[in-house]
Amino acid sequence: MSLAVGAGRRLLGVLRRVAGQRAGGSGPQPGLLQRLALRIRTAGPLSVAEYMREALTHPAQGYYMHHDMLGEKGDFVTSPEISQIFGELIGIWYVSEWMATGKPKTFQLVELGPGRGTLTGDILRVFHQLGSLLNKCNISIHLVEVSPKLSEIQALTLTGENIQPESDDTSPFYMKGTSKTGIPIFWYRTLQDVPQGNSFYLAHEFFDALPIHKFQRTEKGWREVLIDIDPEVPDKLRFVLAPAVTPAAKYFIQDEEPRDHVEVCPDAGVLIQKFACRIEKDGGAALIADYGHDGTKTDTFRGFRNHKLHDVLIAPGTADLTADVDFSYLQRMTQGRVATLGPIAQQEFLKNMGIDVRLQVLLQNSHDVTVREQLIRGYQMLTDPKKMGERFYFFALLPHHRLKSSDKQVNPGHAKSPVPAPIAGFGEMLWQ
Ligand code: SAH
Repeated sequence: MSLAVGAGRRLLGVLRRVAGQRAGGSGPQPGLLQRLALRIRTAGPLSVAEYMREALTHPAQGYYMHHDMLGEKGDFVTSPEISQIFGELIGIWYVSEWMATGKPKTFQLVELGPGRGTLTGDILRVFHQLGSLLNKCNISIHLVEVSPKLSEIQALTLTGENIQPESDDTSPFYMKGTSKTGIPIFWYRTLQDVPQGNSFYLAHEFFDALPIHKFQRTEKGWREVLIDIDPEVPDKLRFVLAPAVTPAAKYFIQDEEPRDHVEVCPDAGVLIQKFACRIEKDGGAALIADYGHDGTKTDTFRGFRNHKLHDVLIAPGTADLTADVDFSYLQRMTQGRVATLGPIAQQEFLKNMGIDVRLQVLLQNSHDVTVREQLIRGYQMLTDPKKMGERFYFFALLPHHRLKSSDKQVNPGHAKSPVPAPIAGFGEMLWQ
């Protein structure tokens, strides 16, 4: 009882502080930390997943919502921002899969978390250059983006315009435009809203931003790691262990789990199941690229601000929070509905896709010393094992029939070939 009374008094104090700040009109809005602290005082410690979700995507104060965090002036740099070659090779991967699956009449490219839109922009340039191949195909782009600020930047990158939000409330998309090359582009808040049908999915550095739960093995069994307020310092957060088994600890840990500390991202599992169901039913493919592991790593939850590591519990909403993707979990969550390939290291994938040849072509075509240096630096950054080459991995979902050698669609030129047609990037290049 006394605990409840104490907590009640603390809560009243916080409510007064927050109310005072609001009532004055001139006082600052409570920061995300204060909001979360209030929630903890009211309802108890938060799971790491709830904390991460709020810190990244809270509508008013989430990290992703209202600023551009990508690039040298931001908090982190991603492969598409480093070199145009990256997006071009991914564009070729999709065209290659589209061809290998019998050149379907429609081509829906669905990108999740498109950042500045740079990757889709580079892919669209490839589609444009391969116009003679794709000209009879009905191409459309579908972007799943939660951030108002980033969707605005994506619209500018891809269409060259500021686009007004969709006025029709019943529409599944919240914005639509046309690319500089005349291809329709739609924006959605979740994958659920994206129309079904033969689709090619892309998620680059997206899964690592999805909220994870953390668990610790103890003498009493598995316990979930939660986030509470430090009793010594007001509004300072700290990790604690749940005193009893939480539903997440009960359902998300595998019986034969050998590790002592485990991170599980159920949102990633749900998303993979949706990809798998859609691909199984309608065809297409998914390409997922991220940093990650094969169910071996333990404690990977971390923050980045200004290109430096940042304490995840300090100033939520001002730093990127991320956790390595567990590819073995993604594979498990497909439940056998689709075939999976990878994860293979970025260096290997890009080399299989012909990055060396592409670099040489671009170098031959450019006489500007700065551009040439930039191209070489970008190449090294993407492929050097100590940089991004072995830190990032590619993982693909494909319909089972895509890997069967006897299927005519798989390898149109060699219908009776005894070996399955290679999937570009994961083996030798399908076409040079
Ligand atoms: N793919 C880009 C950006 C990676 S940053 C690149 O590689 O450069 C993560 C992206 O995912 C951002 O665009 C962010 O706004 C978006 N994002 C994060 N969480 C999301 C969610 N739950 N739903 C939709 N988009 C999300």
